[in-house]
Amino acid sequence: MANEKRNSPVVRDPKERACDFKEVSIGFTESAAKAEAERCLNCKNAPCMKGCPVGVHIPNFISLFKSGDIVGAKRAILNDSSLPAICGRVCPQETQCESKCVRGVKGEPVAIGLLERFVADNAEVVMERKEPCGKKIAVAGSGPASLSCAGDLVKAGANVTVFEAFHKTGGVLVYGIPEFRLPKKLVEKEVEGLKKLGVNFVTDAVIGKTLSIGELLEEYDAVFIGTGAGLPMFMNIPGENLNGVFSANEYLTRVNLMKAYDKNSKTPVYRAKKAVVVGAGNVAMDASRTALRLGAEVSLVYRRSRAEMPARAEEIVHAEEEGVKLNLLCNPVRINGENGFVKSVTLIRMELGEPDASGRRSPVPVQGSEFDIECDAVIMALGTSPNPLVTRSFPEIQTGRKGVIATDECGRTNVKNLYAGGDAVTGAATVISAMGQGRKAASAILEDLGVL
Ligand code: FAD
Ligand code: SF4
Repeated sequence: MANEKRNSPVVRDPKERACDFKEVSIGFTESAAKAEAERCLNCKNAPCMKGCPVGVHIPNFISLFKSGDIVGAKRAILNDSSLPAICGRVCPQETQCESKCVRGVKGEPVAIGLLERFVADNAEVVMERKEPCGKKIAVAGSGPASLSCAGDLVKAGANVTVFEAFHKTGGVLVYGIPEFRLPKKLVEKEVEGLKKLGVNFVTDAVIGKTLSIGELLEEYDAVFIGTGAGLPMFMNIPGENLNGVFSANEYLTRVNLMKAYDKNSKTPVYRAKKAVVVGAGNVAMDASRTALRLGAEVSLVYRRSRAEMPARAEEIVHAEEEGVKLNLLCNPVRINGENGFVKSVTLIRMELGEPDASGRRSPVPVQGSEFDIECDAVIMALGTSPNPLVTRSFPEIQTGRKGVIATDECGRTNVKNLYAGGDAVTGAATVISAMGQGRKAASAILEDLGVL
């Protein structure tokens, strides 16, 4: 029987990587990938697949790779996931496919994500397109939901145009997730692949301003909205309007999309000496590790304990290795300033009380436990909701809590020929769930237009 022990990827030294924006994890070597694939038992009932939101046929791609057919392995993944090099890097496999792997019952699960990444990085597959079907479809936004929707539509022969508000395509994959976790050239390659298949991309086009949903519905047979959830939340505490307070979205967009870390970039970025990042999700980890790379000492503040931190375990470990300090069980009550600039944050200690509606124990302030941390920047990473621009400009569309677009399970909205998916529908979620929804909506569009 193959080795019980999981093979490890090559990861750069924390001291070296904390000073640059190059990728932290290099992934598997060829021999490690082959050895890891041997650990897969090719289970008939494939429990791992039940943990994959898009249903990638995991045993199939691993056994093709094992047999030496890496191109076939990539094609097998592409049947269900259009962005494997990206998913292999950023999907939370430990709570999805790998959490269901039988190898994990008595030992360590197969490293499915790392194998997906290896196969995606090391094989080229040319995608094919059917004959034109005569349908014209518009897609608003160019994040993973829209890219996977556009990909399925163009492959089915539709004429697809993607409208993106920013000057670059890729959504959070380019403006949120930093280069050191997801090299932008990989996202560019995916977009190039779609362009080669015939998808037309229009950038600097804000749907709801440049063009309205109504105009798109008149000109196109169907419209898909994948505009994400980019509106940041704040705490509404005193001092949030001081210079040096940012939303993680703004901070990361300046650095990632506008390359503010590069001395030649025209976009300024605040180079803090001591930064406090509030939150404990992937966004908080990315903001912390970015501030650290820009030269700050970073303290991350979270009101619950480590067990409740929503970020991927790997990201928390990487952040700590690089020098991010975790201040758990405390919460900001006030940001203090001097001459209009941040000088410190007042925190209050918290303890965990009874479980709340989410099932997690709710944090309760410990009266009289306030203390200050000196800092010159505060970055809020508290979650986001959909930007209301699209829905306000087209009030016919039904929305739900926090402004998400209401759809059926296949992405159909209440308006004929109008579909939606991704974070705009679920609120902030994951790359793979956004992709899954983009694909479901593409199927619904093709079915409703009589193409399937
Ligand atoms: P988005 O990726 O948000 O794309 C929406 C696009 O629509 C954007 O390009 C936006 O500019 C554009 N847009 C918005 N309004 C308009 C308009 N009116 N007209 C035209 N275009 C418009 N998920 C993971 O699975 N793993 C991770 O490690 C992870 N890390 C993350 C780190 C950060 C910093 C952030 C912010 C998110 C992270 N996520 C992660 C979440 C994941 O990236 C999102 O769930 C996913 O990108 C949502 O995809 P989407 O296509 O719905 O929207
Ligand atoms: Fe392989 Fe694990 Fe899936 Fe079984 S459950 S097929 S061992 S990856």
